[in-house]
Amino acid sequence: MSRPAGHPAPLPRLRLRITAAAETAVRGGHPWVFSDSVLETNRPGETGEMAIIYDRKDSFLAIGWFDPDSPIRVRILHAGKPQNLDDGWWQARLDQTLARRARLFTAETTGCRLIHGESDGWPGLVLDRYDTTLVLKLYTAAWLPALAATVKRLQVKIPADRIVLRLSRNIQAMAEKKFALRDGQLLHGTAPDGPVIFQENGVRFEADVLRGQKTGFFLDQRENRHEVEMLAAGRRVLNAFSFSGGFSVYAARGGAASVTDLDISAHALDSAKRNFALNQSHPAVAACQRETVQADAFEWIEAGTEKFDLIVLDPPSLAKRATERPAALHAYERLNGLGLRRLAPGGILVAGSCSAQVPAADFFDAVRRAAAKSGRPFTELKTMQHPPDHPAGFKEAEYLKVIYLKLT
Ligand code: SAH
Repeated sequence: MSRPAGHPAPLPRLRLRITAAAETAVRGGHPWVFSDSVLETNRPGETGEMAIIYDRKDSFLAIGWFDPDSPIRVRILHAGKPQNLDDGWWQARLDQTLARRARLFTAETTGCRLIHGESDGWPGLVLDRYDTTLVLKLYTAAWLPALAATVKRLQVKIPADRIVLRLSRNIQAMAEKKFALRDGQLLHGTAPDGPVIFQENGVRFEADVLRGQKTGFFLDQRENRHEVEMLAAGRRVLNAFSFSGGFSVYAARGGAASVTDLDISAHALDSAKRNFALNQSHPAVAACQRETVQADAFEWIEAGTEKFDLIVLDPPSLAKRATERPAALHAYERLNGLGLRRLAPGGILVAGSCSAQVPAADFFDAVRRAAAKSGRPFTELKTMQHPPDHPAGFKEAEYLKVIYLKLT
């Protein structure tokens, strides 16, 4: 049969076969198929095509986004019975994702994560809410061809004044070239004329949604900030790697005598100052003394002698690759050892790690080792991991862990 000129024959569906090990992983719910697990494809695939994976017996195994430029070649959207990912399927997935958060937040918390990537069934996509602003962040170019349809679906269920697009660094060039999409671009509404203000447990914060790290704020530490508030009364608090001062404002509201924000970035410290100012209506925040130190936290903590009663150490990821894991564990042990030296008797250490490459158990042990080596008796108050709006559904997604130690 002939076709009119300009209407090429539709391509056959992209079909893949993968290794036995990858098949087992996908069957077990793992959301990634790496490029070196792909045995065979029926044709070259394009960014953002739906790839169908067939098992050894030629039966449907899973369907997901194809990404020819990423070592994660397929991100699974659905595994199990054959399934057409039509509009109804996407609506149901969105409903499930939002229902998971339905009872988590009150009017006092207008900032939270609505969609957390793979672990919510949206591989490589994050959606954060800051009051009436939504920030949609993509970590894979595979979403780009489907972006307009995705945004439309979100708008039906989540009313918002504006939607900001954020793109991870590795996909920015291709997004611009192939899809004319830029990091920080508005997908709906108009650009804010400054940072967006939202609330978390009644604390007011700003988020730089257009340019800030992640989507503008570290929403994942909400529960730890609340813990610190509960522990802070009367204490001199050091918030190292403070970023925009989230832990400090909570500590101040909890009655801290003083808070010191320590960060290497002047930009972060300026934001921390504004966040503190935003909460002056709380008498405890107004009464709390605030200091700022712009320095390398490792050097500043090592060099000084002034003591604190509560120290938060929440550094950026110290291991980007598995090979960096031993060095990262060493750095965590050293950093927390230095922190313990700056703690007054009875002081509390709140030690965090956001390195996905460092397992929680290894991190906790590194901090305990630092405490044991300090020779000072201590008790372990608690450990914390992922909050409910940042679920971790598979091993590689487990990045967040925090351990609380108290000198006795
Ligand atoms: N605790 C923060 C998030 C920390 S993000 C919160 O709850 O919001 C990591 C921060 O560490 C960034 O603000 C970054 O500027 C800062 N940073 C990175 N390396 C640093 C260093 N060597 N010394 C001090 N701060 C550093």
